[in-house]
Amino acid sequence: MTDQRRVISRVLSEAHDHPDVEQIYRRAVALDPKISIATVYRTMKLYEDANIIDRLDFGDGRARYEENREEHHHHLIDVNSGAVIEFKNDELEEMKHKIAAGLGYDLIGDRLELYGVKKGGVGKATKA
Ligand SMILES: [Zn+2]
Repeated sequence: MTDQRRVISRVLSEAHDHPDVEQIYRRAVALDPKISIATVYRTMKLYEDANIIDRLDFGDGRARYEENREEHHHHLIDVNSGAVIEFKNDELEEMKHKIAAGLGYDLIGDRLELYGVKKGGVGKATKA
């Protein structure tokens, strides 16, 4: 069990995308065929509760995961290709604190995803 968790940790460390449970499972099984999807689910829940990973929602009903990094960032999701672009913006960070402060709060967390279609691309997406 501990070894299987280690395999799953490795999969997460090596992921530079934002994989869902199925993808994590497939990558983990490639390293250790004995790993079950149930173990992956259980481990993800454990890691999420321990704040080792972040669960992300990109609006398609599938939970995505990434390692909890020191560096705070947000995501822009290309609704045509599904590509996920990470970004940081100091102005945005400042504004979030200002908004919370204006409402009488210290900001301790936030969720923000942007959804877009590539400029000049064929605008066939309706999902947002
Ligand atoms: Zn990310």
